[in-house]
Amino acid sequence: MWIDSHAHLDCFIDEGDLPDMLTRARASGVTGVIAIGGSDEANDKALAAAREHEDVCAVLGYDRDEADRAPAVGGLEALLSDPAVVGVGETGLDYHYSAETASQQCALLEHMLDLACACRLPVVIHTRDAEADTHRLLARYAARWNGPRDVPGVIHCYTGDGPFARSLMDLGFMISFSGIVTFKKADALREVARIVPDDLLLVETDAPYLAPVPYRGKRNEPAYVPHVGAAVAAVRGQTPEEVARMTTANVRRLFGNWPAAPDEEATS
Ligand SMILES: [Zn+2]
Repeated sequence: MWIDSHAHLDCFIDEGDLPDMLTRARASGVTGVIAIGGSDEANDKALAAAREHEDVCAVLGYDRDEADRAPAVGGLEALLSDPAVVGVGETGLDYHYSAETASQQCALLEHMLDLACACRLPVVIHTRDAEADTHRLLARYAARWNGPRDVPGVIHCYTGDGPFARSLMDLGFMISFSGIVTFKKADALREVARIVPDDLLLVETDAPYLAPVPYRGKRNEPAYVPHVGAAVAAVRGQTPEEVARMTTANVRRLFGNWPAAPDEEATS
């Protein structure tokens, strides 16, 4: 049983394909999907999907592309109290694609981190070519974190090096790997996937982007997350079943006891 800890469902919703996509996911052993927001439109769609489907939960926030638009954070706060919402994000810093908005990105990220603390929800962080600012802001946030569980958040679709991963894990963050770990040239990233402790490891698709081998170049979807998990398992010398069990337990420790474990469903 797998959980896709990070998927953008917008295109599936727009095409009316969400129910079928979830059926395909279940058929490949994926029993839960975290729907990720990042803009007003994406947040509304992720929340609607989570309200409608038991195996979907939502993470809502504003990502770096919204940084220069100064989004109305007040409206977001109301949405975060919905029981279908389990986290804040995705949010973070990307100096690879938009270094020119660095200071606005930092301001927006700080806003999101304040909101996460106030709502006691973990954050889903995107970071690329922004190591120093990411660590500085997350260290401050992790020190203030007083959520219901011990994990302040996850670094999603991790693409950094080993020392940066260690510095973030020292703050308590989980590290999530996407289909990139299946790519031929990703030896350095596979080495990072090898060193993450069992209790801080997550897997995701980041659908519809970054489809794992053998679907590389096609549209990604949650049904493919077992391919990510198998690649991670192979470098760690673990079985896919072990990685599925660990990463599912970790999703629960990060986002709450969701989805209900099969034995819990049977007894309730
Ligand atoms: Zn994403």
